[in-house]
Amino acid sequence: MIQAPNFADLAPLGLVHGFGDRFSTYPDGITTARQIHSAIVQDAACPLGEGDALVSNRPGVLVGVRTADCVPILLVDPAAGIVAAIHAGWRGTAQGIVPEAVRVVCSREHTDPRHLRAAIGPAIGVCCYEVGPEVARRFGIETAAAVHLDLPGINEMQIRNAGVSDIWKSEECTFCTVDRFYSFRREREAAGRMMSLVGWR
Ligand SMILES: [Zn+2]
Repeated sequence: MIQAPNFADLAPLGLVHGFGDRFSTYPDGITTARQIHSAIVQDAACPLGEGDALVSNRPGVLVGVRTADCVPILLVDPAAGIVAAIHAGWRGTAQGIVPEAVRVVCSREHTDPRHLRAAIGPAIGVCCYEVGPEVARRFGIETAAAVHLDLPGINEMQIRNAGVSDIWKSEECTFCTVDRFYSFRREREAAGRMMSLVGWR
């Protein structure tokens, strides 16, 4: 699995995390929700239904999201011991799912965004992500033609604006890198999903 360099010093403290690729195998018992491209943040301790971000402050719980082109994002507050896994496609990004997850994490633990670390995993890059005028408009771009959207970059900006400054972003594009990643845009219904997970031992 792909490891975020800014989480590396937390492994000896018991943090488990990673962004999967085609070849990853995953531990049993990862807590997931049914993803619906929303801005709904769920607590992994509650019965899970639909949602696109999972928050946990319990040791022994791994939370995960599945993606193929959408942006997987992991949050950790090392002092408060809380983590979050987030699935941000264009709909979730337009609805601000990451700032919402930051808000939930901070209000639950009475902590500050400045204490959080964020990692943005492999997703479809600006090189390959073409959207039509309707989607572009959701991001404040008025156009009659198709445009390229930088979904990982927009999420990074949203995280920064939410007050988190410790951010790592993968530069790998899931659409470009055929031999390593699943891509929904490239493989359509045949595309598998990659799991991104985080939690404390
Ligand atoms: Zn690309």
